Amino acid sequence: MVTAYCGQSTVRPCRSGQSAVRCCAMVSDMADASPRTKSRKRAQATPEQTVGERRARELERSARQALRELATWWQTSARDLPWRYGRTTPWGVLVCEVMSQQTQMSRVVPYWEAWMSQWPDAASLAAAEKSEVIRAWGRLGYPRRALRLQECAEVVARDYDDRLPREYDELMALPSVGDYTASAVLSFAYGERVAVIDTNIRRALSRAFLGVESLGGSCTPLERALAWVVLPKAVEQSVLWNQAVMELGALVCTAKAPQCEQCPLQPQCEFVKAGMPGLGEKRTRPRQRFHGTDRQVRGSILQALRALPAGGALTHAQAEGLCADAVQLDRCIASLDDDGLIEILPGHAMRLPA
Ligand code: SF4
Repeated sequence: MVTAYCGQSTVRPCRSGQSAVRCCAMVSDMADASPRTKSRKRAQATPEQTVGERRARELERSARQALRELATWWQTSARDLPWRYGRTTPWGVLVCEVMSQQTQMSRVVPYWEAWMSQWPDAASLAAAEKSEVIRAWGRLGYPRRALRLQECAEVVARDYDDRLPREYDELMALPSVGDYTASAVLSFAYGERVAVIDTNIRRALSRAFLGVESLGGSCTPLERALAWVVLPKAVEQSVLWNQAVMELGALVCTAKAPQCEQCPLQPQCEFVKAGMPGLGEKRTRPRQRFHGTDRQVRGSILQALRALPAGGALTHAQAEGLCADAVQLDRCIASLDDDGLIEILPGHAMRLPA
């Protein structure tokens, strides 16, 4: 099914099969009878308008030239990750995308493989015990994602007959699914033409085609428009493009030390031509140290609980051995309880939820 940009502030795959401009007009016409709303929606720029019509044509041409080199690089250099090349279900793709939201793909592989062999579909995950789900999440970090993924599985199993929906809006309504994950599922699992926009893709595209560093933080309208303008029009090529640019950003066009001599985009890279202005610059604040943070203490408590036999409890005295700061410890225990990741027992002991 053909998808196109809909002129919204987020990526919205359009099922009309029309061109972007036609599609946006249709959305405006159909959506709301209020003149104020209509005029506001009509004012939204297409990707071509955002980057400039002439610039858009140049960028498209440049992307077409890059595609062949990029495709060859993908075939010879991409990692053989287990969820690639059609070897998993749409649900498997979603699980991998949720796991890798804050975690490197290479770290995700063993967790994903164990997870998918234990719970190959949404229905099996929905029926699992919470404590098992938290155990299986292991050291992937941000463990609330595990429970959100299980909530997502419950909705998919109950409302969609255990089949992941393929409509953007339905995907976006699922727990743990945001714009990036919905777009990645549509492109990688369902083979639709959607611009997938993550940090790696933003960095590589911004450098190669705009000649500037992507500064992190929220995706800018220009970065979003660029991703759509350079996306190949042919659906199959668009999927390859998304995967290849993402992989390039992860392996070659890295944040601090891009390996330009190995990059298929180097002959036309605007960033290289400009002398790499502001290499590594970030809009976001430097990452907080991990040691001594609440994140570390919460992780230590969960790790201690995972190490216990099923149903086992950690006493408060044992937890005190994990954190010398009593106030911080109690704050972390309370927040784990609030997040549904532990249960507090009489006497202030704790265990993983049933
Ligand atoms: S040539 Fe260098 S800066 Fe340009 S896209 Fe490739 S790795 Fe990134």
